Amino acid sequence: MLETICDILVEAYKRNWITSRDGNISIRHHDRDHFYITPSGVRKQTMQPDQFKKIKINKFTCKGCGPDGNNLLQWSWEEMPYSDISIGLKPSGEIPLHFGLQKEIDKDEVRVVTHIHPTYTVAAMHAGIELSELAKDFPELSRYTRVAPNVGDVPPISKELANECHEKLGLNINTGSIKYDIVGIKGHGVVAIDSSPWRSFEHIERLEHICKIVLASGKC
Ligand SMILES: [Zn+2]
Repeated sequence: MLETICDILVEAYKRNWITSRDGNISIRHHDRDHFYITPSGVRKQTMQPDQFKKIKINKFTCKGCGPDGNNLLQWSWEEMPYSDISIGLKPSGEIPLHFGLQKEIDKDEVRVVTHIHPTYTVAAMHAGIELSELAKDFPELSRYTRVAPNVGDVPPISKELANECHEKLGLNINTGSIKYDIVGIKGHGVVAIDSSPWRSFEHIERLEHICKIVLASGKC
């Protein structure tokens, strides 16, 4: 599926939904304690599968770390060797966003997290449109894609961006369950989640199509 992720980045680039070095995608299989994520700073439209970074998920109990001195379940990540080329690369700067969404996933699940910058969706948020409200007026969108409330202005590559996205997506940090398929980040882009690269892409495409229609109507 890493090749498919590369295909998606090519498609996103062709559609002007990213410039060369934008965008990041991760993928995890439920039965593995690691996930793959795109590296930072490479041209995404020419990315190869051996450029991915492999990230190990460590899960441990922190004794006495809870608010009442109780034990607390915690997670951390570390890079694992993958390929000669990837050794010299760093994982995407948005790794806190991806890690939070990948550290716990359902049994039998494959999870793909796709972050890109689709033009009309970002334009719609810039124009003040709340994407979750917009979805209610367009059944062809809301039938297949659950749209979360927008994330406001947060700096890119920040813990704040990660936390806000997790919260708006309705992420349960202990089980990894998520209430929505896509969330928009004002002035920035979207994060979509599904069980395959193209399925996550379809959420973005569907929302983008509606945003284009709404902006073309001039009624916003
Ligand atoms: Zn971005």
